Amino acid sequence: MGKPTGFMEYERELPVDRSPLERVKDWDEFHEHFSEVKLQQQGARCMDCGIPFCHTGQLIGGMASGCPINNLIPEWNDLVYRGLWKEALERLHKTNNFPEFTGRVCPAPCEGSCVLGLNELPVTIKNIECAIIDNGFEQGWVTAEPPQKRTGKKVAVIGSGPAGLACAAQLNRAGHLVTVYERADRIGGLLMYGIPNMKLDKEIVQRRIDLMAAEGVKFITNADIGDGIPANKLKDEFDAIVICTGATKPRDMPIPGRELKGIHFAMEFLHANTKSLLDSGHRNGNYILAKDKHVIVVGGGDTGTDCVGTAMRHGCKTLTQIEILPRPPDTRQPDNPWPEWPKVYKLDYGQEEVAAKFGDDPRIYLTTGEKFVGDDKGNVKEFHTYEVEWTKNEQGAFIPKRVPGSDKVLKADLVLLAMGFLGPEESVLTQLGVERDSRSNAKAEFGWSGRSTRAAARRGNATAILWVGRISRSEAASSPAYSLLNIAVGYLLRRRGLGL
Ligand SMILES: Cc1cc2nc3c(=O)[nH]c(=O)nc-3n(C[C@H](O)[C@H](O)[C@H](O)COP(=O)(O)OP(=O)(O)OC[C@H]3O[C@@H](n4cnc5c(N)ncnc54)[C@H](O)[C@@H]3O)c2cc1C
Ligand code: SF4
Repeated sequence: MGKPTGFMEYERELPVDRSPLERVKDWDEFHEHFSEVKLQQQGARCMDCGIPFCHTGQLIGGMASGCPINNLIPEWNDLVYRGLWKEALERLHKTNNFPEFTGRVCPAPCEGSCVLGLNELPVTIKNIECAIIDNGFEQGWVTAEPPQKRTGKKVAVIGSGPAGLACAAQLNRAGHLVTVYERADRIGGLLMYGIPNMKLDKEIVQRRIDLMAAEGVKFITNADIGDGIPANKLKDEFDAIVICTGATKPRDMPIPGRELKGIHFAMEFLHANTKSLLDSGHRNGNYILAKDKHVIVVGGGDTGTDCVGTAMRHGCKTLTQIEILPRPPDTRQPDNPWPEWPKVYKLDYGQEEVAAKFGDDPRIYLTTGEKFVGDDKGNVKEFHTYEVEWTKNEQGAFIPKRVPGSDKVLKADLVLLAMGFLGPEESVLTQLGVERDSRSNAKAEFGWSGRSTRAAARRGNATAILWVGRISRSEAASSPAYSLLNIAVGYLLRRRGLGL
């Protein structure tokens, strides 16, 4: 602990993001960087706690508390305070393959459980992490490190999202020959085609992929395993197969009018937008345009926020975001104490932009849809909604109940459905004979199952890149041939001669 009085001397401070009204005019990242002095002061706020809750990574109340990949946070806070940036980078890379991603888009459960957060504002852990790795790249300290020795064993990784990438990086480091198969035309999964450029610049994603390629990982794009390339073919060619295909089945809103034109799943909107941006700077027009439209986003999570930010950059006429859950409280409630993940209201970047342009947070809570109504050409033009209250049914489960007289009609030219994901697609799992659980995930457990396949860790329906990294990385490191899934699957088929 560099400065015992740091937490008393310095207030929590973050760089001010680019102004919302300015940043909606482009697709550049909206975060600004801090000066070295400011970062040192923020690092000095860390108390080097005897039990650093920031680093523990436990599930409390079903939510992540502390860093799921057990980043050595107090150590690098101290090193940053002392100006030892290279040493800080080494510590960071010990636990995290891709700090340039997590430093930008992780929800930062570490900050939610920081001990300083008990009576002050928490240490700016995420910002310091991002600064360490950005500085590392700037200084030229991050270079390709191919393994010294190859084992000669071949592993196929299906899917190139953060799970597949973390798994591939660890397996490659262990000396195996890794080939990553990706059905999209670019590597990165949701890092590339889900999270928009203003939140995570795609050059940053590509930079890491290029490094991994230089370290010996082979990437094959436009390779749809299970559809086009039979999954069983990989069994003949590889000693092990890891399935990291994500949870790509979106939740639908099956209400009257759903078939109308202008109603899309969020990922159709986001994927096409980023692809067109990267392919042609949007000149090819191959995306769904929100310009001058009344846009409705259904769903108040990260995906919904990214739809909001994207529609704002297109120049939508109005934007309304519907959320069926209640507005979170402004501060922690008694049933959500520290160090649990704080379930509190926050104005994310997309909503901040809407508020700056149109005057208010676009979210309408406790509201859901009854029907879509179209014009005579089959285009959506109205979204009929009603309010709900959450009541318990006879089994004690909370269910939404319609509030009489709360009906509303909203103008709608473009509706984006961002209500979460239901689980993995079936073809790969079916072709490889992977058993499913009652929620359609791969039936998985920690440790060897005693069969010819090894069940992977299964995280349930989480959406944080950190969890993906943790499960992939730890599994791949300790037994270098299988990964994980968070919502989807990380599943090793075979361990032929991998020394597991
Ligand atoms: C819009 C959006 C925004 C998000 N924002 C954040 C955020 O800010 N912070 C955060 O922590 N989390 C965020 N998340 C969640 C996070 O992106 C996911 O938890 C994470 O990407 C899951 O990683 P994954 O590798 O399991 O799957 P994915 O990233 O989905 O990658 C799976 C890959 O497998 C490929 N694939 C699937 N089937 C096949 C096949 N048969 N053959 C070949 N390839 C296949 C897919 O094309 C895809 O590229 C966001 C999610 C979305 C949708
Ligand atoms: S909990 Fe907060 S104050 Fe304590 S070691 Fe972690 S970052 Fe530092």
